[in-house]
Amino acid sequence: MSKKEKPYIVKKKVVTVIERLYNPKYGDDRICVCGHTYYRHFDGYENNRAVGCKYCQCSDFKEAPPMPKNFLSKKGAIKVLLSKQDQLDIYHRHLEETFNKKN
Ligand SMILES: [Zn+2]
Ligand SMILES: [Zn+2]
Repeated sequence: MSKKEKPYIVKKKVVTVIERLYNPKYGDDRICVCGHTYYRHFDGYENNRAVGCKYCQCSDFKEAPPMPKNFLSKKGAIKVLLSKQDQLDIYHRHLEETFNKKN
């Protein structure tokens, strides 16, 4: 023991923080494999940090493949009676259900 010793050894560390932020050029309405839009995967109150999907447990946005051509007929939906948006909604709900089953 020595009177000159201090109770703590103080070390200075530089820590690198990797932040994943929202990219406004990416396209807000692009759809993730979880069935939800791109911008729902970020927190507008927290500097647009990538916090994960607001609607489900999805933590990483991964773009869903475009709706397969035979998707609606497989689902038994009659395409001509549906608007484009309705067709997409069916597909997005399907993605959501598939994603939830996996997680
Ligand atoms: Zn997602
Ligand atoms: Zn989601």
